Amino acid sequence: MDSPLALYRRYRPETFSQVIGQDHVTQPLRNALANDRVNHAYLFSGPRGCGKTTSARILARTLNCAQAPTAEPCGECDSCRDLATGGGGSIDVIEIDAASHGGVDDARDLREKAFFAPVRDRFKIYIIDEAHMVSNQGFNALLKLVEEPPPHLRFIFATTEPEKVIPTIRSRTHHYPFRLIPPRMLSEHVSDLCAREGVAIEPAAVPLVVRAGAGSARDTLSVLDQLIGGAGPEGVTHRLAVALLGFTPDTLLDEIVDAFAASDGAAVFGVVDKVIESGQDPRRFAEDLLRRLRDLVIVAAVPDAPTTGLIDVSQDQGERLAAQAARFGGSDLSRAADILAAGLMDMKGAISPRLLLELICARVLLPGADHTTDGVQARLDRMEKRFAIGAVPTGDAQPPSRAPQQQQPTQQSAQYSPQQAARQAVAPPAAQAPPSAAPAAPTTAAQAPAQEPVQQPQQQPQAPAPAAPTRPAQPAAASEPAGWGAPAASATPPGQSASQAPASAPDPSTPTNPPGAPTGGLSLVDVRRLWPDVVDAVRSRRRLAWMLLTQNAQVTGVDGNTLTLGFNNAGARESFVKGGSDLIVREAAIDVIGVAWNIDAVVDPGVVPGGAGPAYTVKSPAVKPTQPAQAQPDQRQPERAQADLPQSGPAGQRPQPGRGDDGGYEPPPPSEPPDDDGPPPPPESYDRSPAAQQPPVDQQSVRAAREAIQQTRNGEMPKRNDDRALADAAVSRDDPDAESQELDSAELLKRTLGARVIEEIKHQ
Ligand SMILES: [Zn+2]
Repeated sequence: MDSPLALYRRYRPETFSQVIGQDHVTQPLRNALANDRVNHAYLFSGPRGCGKTTSARILARTLNCAQAPTAEPCGECDSCRDLATGGGGSIDVIEIDAASHGGVDDARDLREKAFFAPVRDRFKIYIIDEAHMVSNQGFNALLKLVEEPPPHLRFIFATTEPEKVIPTIRSRTHHYPFRLIPPRMLSEHVSDLCAREGVAIEPAAVPLVVRAGAGSARDTLSVLDQLIGGAGPEGVTHRLAVALLGFTPDTLLDEIVDAFAASDGAAVFGVVDKVIESGQDPRRFAEDLLRRLRDLVIVAAVPDAPTTGLIDVSQDQGERLAAQAARFGGSDLSRAADILAAGLMDMKGAISPRLLLELICARVLLPGADHTTDGVQARLDRMEKRFAIGAVPTGDAQPPSRAPQQQQPTQQSAQYSPQQAARQAVAPPAAQAPPSAAPAAPTTAAQAPAQEPVQQPQQQPQAPAPAAPTRPAQPAAASEPAGWGAPAASATPPGQSASQAPASAPDPSTPTNPPGAPTGGLSLVDVRRLWPDVVDAVRSRRRLAWMLLTQNAQVTGVDGNTLTLGFNNAGARESFVKGGSDLIVREAAIDVIGVAWNIDAVVDPGVVPGGAGPAYTVKSPAVKPTQPAQAQPDQRQPERAQADLPQSGPAGQRPQPGRGDDGGYEPPPPSEPPDDDGPPPPPESYDRSPAAQQPPVDQQSVRAAREAIQQTRNGEMPKRNDDRALADAAVSRDDPDAESQELDSAELLKRTLGARVIEEIKHQ
């Protein structure tokens, strides 16, 4: 045969057992046939291509088989061979296509012929296909015949729309509803057929074929036929299927889903552009994306859905889905799916489907602008995720903001004593505690004693300043819902203004948010609390990055969209940046905390590696929290001393209006020896020799850090490269006298804070 029959014809089932996916129908039929309890009229209904006509033929074959009554046609008798695929047909089995022969005349004609007895076989059987096309008059003409047929007559009606068959006919038939065939069953069928045809098919292509077939065996086989026809020597590949069937490539879907998860607007609209550029139908893309979101919703609810076959995907695809679902919150997902589904309706007949697709994407991207319950829920999801990881209640006890701190110095100095006492009480045990995930406070306390004996005069006045601020963490956290949208959306050029406006402007409940406070929502302390989890996440992605983070780096600052990592040597930083590890960390942070930070790697020799070490840097006001300030001088002092010593003499005499702000960072005099109570900082921090050769770059980073502090305090967002000179001036203004002048503590307190010492506790 030079042109072989189409697949669906060659593989048309010849027995009920070969009909796939319709056991609920074929089994009772077989039972009825075996028991010879056959009705005189049947109605097979169901979607097209699911086996109605085929089953009707099998039924006719079985009824007229020489072996009857039997459950299956024997396949060997004359009747069975005549009715087999490629057989000549039987004069006693008449197939009528009602689409073309549904009129009343055809019905009358049928009625007259029906009374003649079968020529050879047991029954005269009419198979009336597309029965819904029979006109009402036609049905009425048949009514009497179907109601009281002669004993040799059997009717089988097959239709996609059983409700169009008039009730008087329907009520005289046995109705067997056929259904769409489950994808898993079709997948097996497709693989099986390919094996029988000797055609290779990539496992990833099978779901596409099944999807294109939409549950219809005939359609599925037609699609498969087409793919086999177009296949090269390598067989039916996924690529071929995607291209030929017009599906959106999985890579594009992966890309846009990842972009949504990261709120990366640039990437989202990049994908939309690719879709259009590659000539795909935006509507089809939206459908495919919706289908993907549906898969993700299911994977989020049932993590092992891919392996149990709840969703029909290949194994590696299943793993990707699980990872993507983890990046979304549950309500984030369903919200995105809702938006997309609604958008799809709008896209029907839209003049510019691309425009609509982009608007839909913009809506998905902006949870901050969504005030519906779902939008709020999506934001809550993210917060819960974050707090669940942090797990430490950040400060119910914490007062609202740092504003009061500046306005009410007396109150702060009153707090000083208890703070100091507490610190001392904690110190000894904390000294042994590993400086790991624990909040910064204990670690700091451990270092505190190191300076106190010598530092005291300066320490005490400063204590209040850093003590109060445990708070900045608080406003940051409280304002989170509002500020949240900002960093996320800022990656989204088109959506940015839209998201920020509603997100940050109108939140009266946000406690006094001083101008210049970080808008990113998370304070440095928060970030450090979450940091070990981020580091863990990095570990599973890239071991080298993980090692660098644990051995050489520390979070030294966070502000808005930027997370600053300090590396204790330039080599480590180089290796981190060049290896693209910053991107790894960014991804990990998105996964764990849900914030898309730009990672800024700087060299900072004072860094205590190990992630959540003591909060000693100062990029944002949130650092002032706890008592890190006391700990810092230990490490910072050498660099500082070198950098600033020359100017310190004269500068020391200047009045210091800015002092109150920076009070926490007073370094001790350079000559003071380190005490041995605290955990040893890295060796270079202990290099106290005045000639310690710090490379210039280190001083720069220290300066940069200070500059950032200065700016945030002044109510500006830090600008990395500008105003360096200004920052330097500021630095020289507050440091030197502290280092060289040995001011009386009471004097210092008074000068910087307007405070008065009530009681002084001697240390050791
Ligand atoms: Zn037979």
